[in-house]
Amino acid sequence: MFPVVQASDLNHGEHGGTRGNRRRPPGFDTHFVQPDNRIVAESTLTRQDLRSPLLRRSFLKPYPVAVRGEGVYVWDADGNRYLDFSGSAAVNFIGHGVREIADAMLEQARRLEFVHTSQFTTPVAEEFAAELLDFAGVRFRGGAVYFSCGGSESIETALKLARQYQVEIGQPTRYQVLSRNQSYHGSTLGALSVSGNKKRREMYLPMVCEFAHIGTPYCYRCDFDCADGCRNCGQQYAAELEHAIEAAKGETAAFIFEPMSGATLGAVTPPPGYLESIAEICGRHRVLLIADEVMTGMGRTGRNFAVEHWKVAPDILVTAKGLSSGYAPLGAVVASKKVVDAIATGSGAFLHGFTYNAHPLSVAAGRAVLRRIQSQNLVHAADSGIAGMVGSVLKTSLEGLRDLDVVGDVRGLGLLWGVEFVRDKKTKQPFPPERDFAGLAGQAALRRGLLVYPMQGCVDGVAGDHLLIAPPAVITGEQIGEAVDQLRAAILEST
Ligand code: PLP
Repeated sequence: MFPVVQASDLNHGEHGGTRGNRRRPPGFDTHFVQPDNRIVAESTLTRQDLRSPLLRRSFLKPYPVAVRGEGVYVWDADGNRYLDFSGSAAVNFIGHGVREIADAMLEQARRLEFVHTSQFTTPVAEEFAAELLDFAGVRFRGGAVYFSCGGSESIETALKLARQYQVEIGQPTRYQVLSRNQSYHGSTLGALSVSGNKKRREMYLPMVCEFAHIGTPYCYRCDFDCADGCRNCGQQYAAELEHAIEAAKGETAAFIFEPMSGATLGAVTPPPGYLESIAEICGRHRVLLIADEVMTGMGRTGRNFAVEHWKVAPDILVTAKGLSSGYAPLGAVVASKKVVDAIATGSGAFLHGFTYNAHPLSVAAGRAVLRRIQSQNLVHAADSGIAGMVGSVLKTSLEGLRDLDVVGDVRGLGLLWGVEFVRDKKTKQPFPPERDFAGLAGQAALRRGLLVYPMQGCVDGVAGDHLLIAPPAVITGEQIGEAVDQLRAAILEST
């Protein structure tokens, strides 16, 4: 089923500006061609019309058909252009359609498409591992990298690595991985077990292992009602970890956390001193610290990895998304020397593996992406603390939305921002969840050719609406201005 171009749309070429060139003004009914050539208006689509041989994410909405990408833009089959203001789902960092990445993959495919990691290693995987360790900084010197096909697989890998580490060092009773409420670490069952995202895990709860979850600092809605701008509550939140470790009576293998909360809370940054205390508590209790930088890694927050903002050194760092910027399925677990040494000098083998780990094409894509990040100075560009960088322009532009009645909070770092909506600004009361305010605003933005990432549940797992904004680092100040204008109009239209 493909959207059809309508008479009123015909002058909307793919090179027009975002503003004023959309073919679907608010209320406009898009039409879709069915496989049997029937033309059906979006408003009259039934679930049957929305069936497809592809098991899509939802049977409740039609999807535009994406056919091309370039820079910050994606085009659909009708020639409609979308400004990718969310980097898909905080994935794309270097921009769409970069030819040198495709060339690197093609060259690798022509030379060697695949070997199994039980039989061979490859130059491309070895070289990229060394480069990534270097990018991760001195704290990972002497460590090693495990490549997988994405975030969830990498989280599974990190959980098992942490458990095996404890067994190797003579601590076989340690197997629990503590984590935080309102977190998200992936969709596989192990990753879901340490996630706190209520909606994404509730249905599968009977199937997942349950370990303790502690609170996540969320300064806009601080549990401790701080009157000092959350300058001191970090210690109180961190104390929850100490209590959870003590309650687990010597069975804790690791603690996993997102340095900045990603999709679930919407780019929430930790209060001062919090992560430093978390790291200190883990070290004191010999609990491994796993930083989930699937979303925040590879420059997204204006540092190579977000933990650098707080000078925290995790034992294991997980990254994905921006690692290949979406050009190939790729994730990585970066393990410190301490962790690698335990296995190398212990049993001698990591008891884990996927057929496609360290796949040569994905690794070739990741390697070319890292080169691009470095040659174009994209981490610097993403820094919201340096005037003139696009990170800083994005910060200022999004903060301008605070004057809207429904915008309660704008928060983030670098090129990762959250805009939270409220029904009442004074009381911070959220919209009723059934209204799906974030979803409405996301759809209104889409109709204006703007891609954002709507989420619900930031308040308590069910209520609370926000949008995640995470554009590629190649976005210009002018494009940010256009995007924020469209976002403002989309929010107003949904109010
Ligand atoms: N961890 C974090 C912080 C994420 O944001 C995500 C995905 O959004 C994941 C893990 C899972 O990654 P993937 O969807 O690539 O499996």
